[in-house]
Amino acid sequence: MEVFTSISNLRKYLVQQVQQQQKIGLVPTMGALHEGHISLIQASKADNDVTVCSIFVNPTQFNNPEDLLKYPRTLEADCAMLEAAGCDVVFAPSAEEMYPEQPILKFNFGALETVMESASRPGHFNGVGIVVSKLFHIVKPHRAYFGQKDLQQVAVVSRMVADLSFDLELVIAPTVREADGLAMSSRNRRLNEEERHIAPHIFRIMESAKNALLKGESVSEVIKEAKQEFSAVDAFRLDYFEIVDLSDLQPIDIIGSKGNNAICVAVFLGPVRLIDNLVF
Ligand code: AMP
Repeated sequence: MEVFTSISNLRKYLVQQVQQQQKIGLVPTMGALHEGHISLIQASKADNDVTVCSIFVNPTQFNNPEDLLKYPRTLEADCAMLEAAGCDVVFAPSAEEMYPEQPILKFNFGALETVMESASRPGHFNGVGIVVSKLFHIVKPHRAYFGQKDLQQVAVVSRMVADLSFDLELVIAPTVREADGLAMSSRNRRLNEEERHIAPHIFRIMESAKNALLKGESVSEVIKEAKQEFSAVDAFRLDYFEIVDLSDLQPIDIIGSKGNNAICVAVFLGPVRLIDNLVF
C-alpha cells in the first residue's frame, strides 16, 4: 500500500496508473476508521483497479472548534486496517497541504442546506463541498464512494457533481451497523460505557417510527411519539427528528412511495452528537 501526504506525488503516481488503463476509486474519509468505512473500500475494490482512501480531518467543515479538536485521529491504526482490507493508496495530507490559503470560494446548496444538519452546523456543507471538490480534482477518480449514513452529505455531493459536471460516478453504500443497531461512527468511540449502552435506542426509535408510518399513523403523530421517546431518556438531547422526502430532504406531511422517504435524526448523547437515518 502506498501512502502519500503530498498532492503532487499522489498525482504523479495516479497519472501513471491511468496511463496503464487503471480505473481509480476514491473513498474520502476523516479517518478513525471502522467497518462502515471498510465496506466502502470493499465496494471500491470490487469496481476499480486502484482504490484510494483519503484521510483528512477537514477543518473547513467543522463549525465547532471542540468537535474538531476532539475528533479522533488514529492514522497508524487506520493504515493497518486499510492494508488488511487491500486498499492500494492512502492520501493523508496535512491541513497546510490542502489549504495553503483559506479558500474564499463559497458553495450555496440552496434548500438542501436549509434543513437538518445545516441549522446546527452553519457552513458545514460549504466545507464539505470545498474538500470533496478538491479531492475530486486531485484524485480524478472514475468512481467515488459515500455512505448513506450521511444522507444530507450524499444529497449535497450528488447535486455538486451534477451542477459542476464532475466526470465520475457516485456510488452510495448502505449504513453498516453494530449488532445492536447502532450505526458505526468514528464518534462512537467517544461514548462512555453507559452512553454506548443507551445509543442503540436511536435505531429502535427510528424503526418503530417507520413501522408506525407504514401502518398508517400520521407523520405528525409519529414525530410527536418519537420526540417523547427521546425525552424519556435523560442522557439524550434531541437536535432534530425529521421525516423527509428523499429527493429534496424537505419535511413531508404524508409519506411518499416506497424508497422515497427518510427518517433522519441528530441527537446529543452526553457530549457526542450522533446522526442516523432510515430510508423506507
Ligand atoms: P467520515 O470519516 O465520517 O467522514 O466518513 C467517511 C465516509 O464513510 C462517508 O461517506 C460516510 O458516509 C461513510 N460512513 C461513515 N459511517 C458509515 C457507516 N456506518 N456505514 C457506511 N458508511 C459509513
